[in-house]
Amino acid sequence: MTKSLLDAIKERPLLGDGAMGTQLMIAGLEQGNSGELWNLTHPERVLAIQRRYVEAGSECLLTNTFGGSRIMLNRHSHADDVVAINAAAVGIAREAFGGRDGYVIGDIGPFGGLMEPYGEFTEAQVLDAFREQAKALVDAGADAIIIETQTSLEELRLGLMAAREAGASCAIGSMAYDVTLDGSTFRTMMGIDPERAAEFMQEHGADIVALNCGTGMDMERARQAVLRYLQITGLPIMAQPNAGQPKLVDMKVIYDETPAQMVTGVAPLLQAGASIIGGCCGSTPDHIRAFREAIDQFQMAKAVS
Ligand SMILES: [Zn+2]
Repeated sequence: MTKSLLDAIKERPLLGDGAMGTQLMIAGLEQGNSGELWNLTHPERVLAIQRRYVEAGSECLLTNTFGGSRIMLNRHSHADDVVAINAAAVGIAREAFGGRDGYVIGDIGPFGGLMEPYGEFTEAQVLDAFREQAKALVDAGADAIIIETQTSLEELRLGLMAAREAGASCAIGSMAYDVTLDGSTFRTMMGIDPERAAEFMQEHGADIVALNCGTGMDMERARQAVLRYLQITGLPIMAQPNAGQPKLVDMKVIYDETPAQMVTGVAPLLQAGASIIGGCCGSTPDHIRAFREAIDQFQMAKAVS
């Protein structure tokens, strides 16, 4: 690897990857089981998914560790495997690049509960869990850490702190917004708007401010979020929207925005100033392949203009 992730995005936008969760389901993971445990039990299946993203043009892969904190793994009685699961995930993602240049972004998702006084977890418990996971990811060689699908600033702060303490050379904070019922704006479930999130992330040591997932956050809403971030911060921005709105079909959640539909939002997102673009729930290697073409065309058009 010649350049750090932060140096690379100063030169050109990078393509992230698509969904892991929905791809794991397609590969046979049953609802309610731990996809992260597959890093140890079925590494070849995780590798196959990430290889498809690399073949489609991904330059950044998120490790398969969304639910890889002690608190999340404890629900599957695998709390003792935190370090092994996270270290294996970094190795799998690195292997998926097959010697090509690419960035492994250690993924930390929400701890999955509420902190005191609303819930049963203490701040210290959550911080310890994030510290342990971040350290395992960084020690295994992750190029960055992303604290993603965040809705509360309290939890985000602990995640960023853990990433910093672990020595991550790049810390990414990523919020999940929901479009309000009247459709006029979007904020997180805990009521945080993009301006406040950007300000907070900048104050708390994020190197990249991001958004992912959420409800109703299509490519156009992601573009609006990028513009709103830019009102507040000069930090680089990453966007990973879902492939449309979740729909319940035969008791299964599906995302049906096609690559052709979603790709129309790529150039506007780049134009707005996004530095890394990927997809969240429901996005597939085909979506990423379409994104690759759009990014390359955008860059070529920029070079000749
Ligand atoms: Zn998602």
